Amino acid sequence: MKIIRSPQALQRLAMELSAAGKRIGLVPTMGALHEGHLSLVRRCRRECDCVIVSIFVNPAQFGPNEDYLRYPRPFSQDAALCRGAGVDILFVPPAEEMYPSGYLTYITVDKISDIMCGAFRPGHFRGVATVVAKLFNLSRPHRAYFGAKDYQQVRVIRRMTDDLHFPVRIVECPIVRERSGLALSSRNAYLSAAERAASTLISKSLQQSVDLVQCEKLKNSGKIIQKIQKEIRRIPGSRIDYIEVRDAGNLAPLKFIDRPAVIAVAVWVGRTRLIDNIVIR
Ligand code: AMP
Repeated sequence: MKIIRSPQALQRLAMELSAAGKRIGLVPTMGALHEGHLSLVRRCRRECDCVIVSIFVNPAQFGPNEDYLRYPRPFSQDAALCRGAGVDILFVPPAEEMYPSGYLTYITVDKISDIMCGAFRPGHFRGVATVVAKLFNLSRPHRAYFGAKDYQQVRVIRRMTDDLHFPVRIVECPIVRERSGLALSSRNAYLSAAERAASTLISKSLQQSVDLVQCEKLKNSGKIIQKIQKEIRRIPGSRIDYIEVRDAGNLAPLKFIDRPAVIAVAVWVGRTRLIDNIVIR
C-alpha cells in the first residue's frame, strides 16, 4: 500500500493508472475507521482494479464550534486496517495542501444543502461538496463509494456529480450497525457506556416506525414523527435537532408516506451529535 500525502502526486499517479486502463475506486473518509468504512472499502476492492482511500478531516465542513480539533485521528490503526483490506493507495493530505493560503473556491449545491443537517450546520455541505469535488479531480475515480448513513450527503454528492458532469459512478452502500442497532460512527467513541446503551433507542424508534408504516399502514408523517420523538426523548441528556420524513430521492418534505421515503434524525446525546435514517420503499 502506497501512502501519498501530496495532492499533485496522487493526481499524477491516478492519471497514469487511468491511462493504463485501470478502473479506479475512491472511498473518501475522515478516518477513525470502523466496519462501516470497511464495508465501502471491501465493495470497492471487489469492483475496481485500484482502491484509493482518502483520510482527511476536512476543516471546511466543520462549523466554528464543532469538533474539528477533537475529532479522533488514530492514523497508524487506520493505515493497518487499510492495508488489511487490500487498499492500494492511502491518501492523507495535510490541510495546508488541500487549502493553501489564498484558497478561494467552494462548491454550493443549492436547496438540498440548506435543509435537515444543513439547517443546523451552516456551510457543512458546502465543505463536503468542495472536498469531494477536489478528491474526484485528484483521484480520477470511475466509482466512488459513500455510506447511506449520511443520507443527505449522498443526495448532495449525486446532485453535484450530475450537475458538474463528473465522470464517476456514485455507489451508495447500506448502513452498518452494531448488533444493538446503533449505526457505526467515528463519533460513537465520544459516548459514555451509558450514553451508548441509551442511544440504541434511535435506531429502535426508526425500525418501529417502519413497522407502523408497513404493518399498521400508518402514513401520516406528523404522527410517525411524534412517536419517534417520544422514544428518543427517553434518552437521558438528549436534544433533538430534527426528525423528518422526506421523499427518498429529492428530499422534498412528505406529509404522507405515499412514495419511497426516508425518515432521518439528528440528535445530541450529551456532547455527541448522532445521525441515523431508514428508507421505506
Ligand atoms: P466519515 O469518515 O464519517 O466521513 O465517513 C466516510 C464514509 O463512510 C461516508 O461515505 C459515510 O457515509 C460512510 N460511513 C460512515 N459510517 C457508516 C456506517 N455505519 N455504515 C455505512 N457507511 C458508513
